[in-house]
Amino acid sequence: MSLYRCSACGCVENTALANYWQRKMDQQPLLCSACDPEIGVWHGQFTQRSATGMLIDGRGLLWHPMTLMSMPAHATIVGIVQEDAQKG
Ligand SMILES: [Zn+2]
Repeated sequence: MSLYRCSACGCVENTALANYWQRKMDQQPLLCSACDPEIGVWHGQFTQRSATGMLIDGRGLLWHPMTLMSMPAHATIVGIVQEDAQKG
């Protein structure tokens, strides 16, 4: 599964559980299922949580530090999600 960061609330979302590919193709902001007006509700497949501390690869996808062993060889970590500046 591939993870990404919702550009509205900053949570971790799965590309298969929201309109990630459609929105990416349309060059729309990448939203989670809860923030996407077409869905509007969190899917409940896993707990909604902040992406802070997740690693970012060259395609903008997120990796938990504990799952780096299963990362495909072509993926390269280019950054880390910082504390969400919009909060507080
Ligand atoms: Zn969101």
